[in-house]
Amino acid sequence: MPRVKDTAFIINKVDFGESDLILTLFTAGRGKISAIGKGAKRSRKRFPGSLELFSRVSFAGFIKHPLALTRIDECRLVEPYLDIQEDLHSYYCACYFLEIINRCCAERQANREIFILLDEVLTYLASKPANRNFNCRIRLFELQIIALLGFKPRLDHCLECHGRLDQEKAFIFSPEAGGLVCNSCRKRYSASFTVSRGTVNLLNLASRLDSDLKNKLNFTPQVERESARLCRALLRWHSGCEFKSLKVLENHTAFHRNDSISFKPDIQPERWKGNR
Ligand SMILES: [Zn+2]
Repeated sequence: MPRVKDTAFIINKVDFGESDLILTLFTAGRGKISAIGKGAKRSRKRFPGSLELFSRVSFAGFIKHPLALTRIDECRLVEPYLDIQEDLHSYYCACYFLEIINRCCAERQANREIFILLDEVLTYLASKPANRNFNCRIRLFELQIIALLGFKPRLDHCLECHGRLDQEKAFIFSPEAGGLVCNSCRKRYSASFTVSRGTVNLLNLASRLDSDLKNKLNFTPQVERESARLCRALLRWHSGCEFKSLKVLENHTAFHRNDSISFKPDIQPERWKGNR
């Protein structure tokens, strides 16, 4: 029976019976896995306060069958990111990020960059710098995860007629087709909308920014609007579902809009228009 030892983020947990927990973990070595913590709700010795949402844990267990749940028999808390639970906005953002990963990542496909990204965003949400800009961080996370999961639309051809798109100044994205279409084909897709080349090119940049730049990034209002619409349509298309946590986050943001912190950009927006 293969033994497993790894580090992971807890991205979902559900009670199972009186004493067990079904967990979805994003691990460093195996990507997303489903696991069962036998006796996790009872044994404080084997699971000492370690199984809260967002937490980074190290665990040991075994796999009985390649298709079965990983059985965790020991778990140790590495980092709880406790401050996320103290701030409602951070909490809703973190829930949205975890839902994207839970719904969009396939099981048992290792992706070290997504593991590192999770650590970065949870550390960011648990910290409380005065100029923290949630909107930019959400936009950036959506762009990064799309690039890391390979969901980026093809930029060179129309999905419908295969005509070349490389001379276009702006792109037309179809949420029904999950990609870009040319001007003549757009009439077949009633929900299609225009996005600038700069917004689409941001997808190429997003996964390559260093940590310092990520925390200072600011978007022009146009790029922010367009990238939110594009990313969410792409994530919806690839996952086949609406994200419940996004609705909650949007309602919370709308309710508190008047209290939001005004943000002075550290980087001039022009730099991030991303023209080729
Ligand atoms: Zn076409």
